[in-house]
Amino acid sequence: MTFSIRDIQARCAALGHSPGDIDGMMGPNTRAAISDALRARGGRRLPDLFHPSGLHRIHLHWTAGAAGVIDLELRHYNEVIDHEGRAHSGHFPATAQATYRVGHAASHTLNANTGAIGLAVDCMAGAVERPFDQGSAPMTQAQVDALAERAAYYCEAFDIPVSPFSVLTHAEIQPTLGIRQRWKWDITWLPGMKEPGDPILVGDRIRELVQRKMDMPWAA
Ligand SMILES: [Zn+2]
Repeated sequence: MTFSIRDIQARCAALGHSPGDIDGMMGPNTRAAISDALRARGGRRLPDLFHPSGLHRIHLHWTAGAAGVIDLELRHYNEVIDHEGRAHSGHFPATAQATYRVGHAASHTLNANTGAIGLAVDCMAGAVERPFDQGSAPMTQAQVDALAERAAYYCEAFDIPVSPFSVLTHAEIQPTLGIRQRWKWDITWLPGMKEPGDPILVGDRIRELVQRKMDMPWAA
């Protein structure tokens, strides 16, 4: 299991021990965050900060596809949620992301697939950001609910905190983790919004939903 410095920084931040900016540099703030986090968890070594599975983040996407889950989508995400809110298992299970290799795990986020589970809602074909046009297959509320529910399941299963550093939309990857993405317009709009919004604020709304699902007494 290997973790990049960025992964370690994001994990510390997710656990409530901020290393400052997620910049991929092992500086004094990062070292301090690591020892704080280890002390809080009663761990000794870096891997002790992580779940034994090696999974530590969930990335939320939309496919930009038309209604109807297709093979290509199932190859790119660990789960794809259709318009009715049904989750379809991808070709690679979430655990395949622990040791990411092309062809053996889902490729859902540029340079950030290792340890990251990719969940997608199948929607937004033909959507245009500005002026906003939701296209022929806009995201449904059933999809948002199911996305939050599936994320809550994985958070619970793999000890992933519901934080902006560990449960984030594809649109947040670059601003929050500093990992450059080729421009791709990905979750910045939710049903009921007049137009796309700030990626972090939209991410916050989804995380709120995920947290609510986790707080339900009957949650997994
Ligand atoms: Zn995406």
